[in-house]
Amino acid sequence: MSVTVAATPPGLDARTLRRDFPALSQKVHGRQLVYLDNAASSQTPRPVIDALVRYYEHDRSNVHRGVHELSQRATDKYESARIRLQRFLNASQPEEIVWTKGATESINLVASSWGRTHVGAGDDVIVSAMEHHSNIVPWQILCQDRGANLRVIPMNEAGELQLDRLDGLLSPRARIVAVTQVSNALGTVNPVREIAARAHAAGAVCLVDGAQAAPHMPVDVQDLGCDFFALSGHKMCGPTGIGALFARRALLEEMPPYQSGGDMISSVSFEKTEYNELPYKFEAGTPMIAGAIGMGAAVDYLQSIGMDRIASYESELLLYAVERLDAIQGLRPIGTARSRAGVVSFEIESIHPADLGTILDRQGIALRVGHHCAEPVMRFYGVSATTRASLAFYNTRADFDALADAIEIAKEIFA
Ligand code: PLP
Repeated sequence: MSVTVAATPPGLDARTLRRDFPALSQKVHGRQLVYLDNAASSQTPRPVIDALVRYYEHDRSNVHRGVHELSQRATDKYESARIRLQRFLNASQPEEIVWTKGATESINLVASSWGRTHVGAGDDVIVSAMEHHSNIVPWQILCQDRGANLRVIPMNEAGELQLDRLDGLLSPRARIVAVTQVSNALGTVNPVREIAARAHAAGAVCLVDGAQAAPHMPVDVQDLGCDFFALSGHKMCGPTGIGALFARRALLEEMPPYQSGGDMISSVSFEKTEYNELPYKFEAGTPMIAGAIGMGAAVDYLQSIGMDRIASYESELLLYAVERLDAIQGLRPIGTARSRAGVVSFEIESIHPADLGTILDRQGIALRVGHHCAEPVMRFYGVSATTRASLAFYNTRADFDALADAIEIAKEIFA
């Protein structure tokens, strides 16, 4: 018997999946909630909520320290979540996954620990023009401390990186290229595999900010060839306050601790401290135990749907969203890259985004207005803020129909 594998995964049923998310069924200001603020934070499915409740009701205790049953259970679940995330990212071993508070802390860990030992006076740190502040400011602080230079890969009007300019930036002084895989302000998907390869060819390492990629597409850190990959749990159906850093083992081995205290040591005396093995060397103090356990459940949930299916469903939905919004007179899209995921950003002629956001909220539509922690992007487009609708696999075309109708109502109010 021969088995045929479908070239394209079968579509997903967003209407059925929505039922897994209790928050989505509520009304806001008397209207059915339309949740389009997923780039800021996604909603939480029932299996993740259940995993958190189970931990608090049943296994609540500290990890790695107790010999008693509850501590053993909590430790097993905490470590099993790490293995699940390792597989989700296709890292080669669990020791390469460090739990953090989120993408911000992951990047700070690298800037502080790796940066302190690898970036010196006159060296270059390269970021891109479309980074979130959390992939700018830690590097800026590092560069100020070390007397290094922050260099920026420019972008074009569509919001695509001008990679022909990268080689010019990759001098022998380049130490790291830190770049987002998906822009939270524009939705641009960057070719991070190619960027990592070019960084390596120049003797630099590559950090990928995957905060907006991991919720929307399959991620294989070995295939990407990156040295570091940062993500946030709360953007991918996990709890708040948990995230992770993938880092190649060889790098983690030689990096100094980021924070210090309990759990990151193997022995302490007043004369000398020996650090713990990986990844605990980078997990000082009591970690976000419930968060990690919830994250394990989130990864299981996403994998039960399939990241390929999520990616193909969402890219079709994004096309619909763009088409629907582009048809609105007076709407200026911000970011029109050929390869995009998750996000549509725009401004509406003569309505300030803050006013638009308030009017949309009164109609039950939750989205984000502001600079999206990407002020350099706003400056590039000459705006102080945009309106950003960001989707997840539980959104439907009806959500964007509701958004388009609500924008027309706002236009009438401001006419
Ligand atoms: N990087 C990108 C691209 C983001 O969109 C965000 C959050 O919006 C972050 C980093 C920071 O994530 P967190 O606030 O979860 O640490």
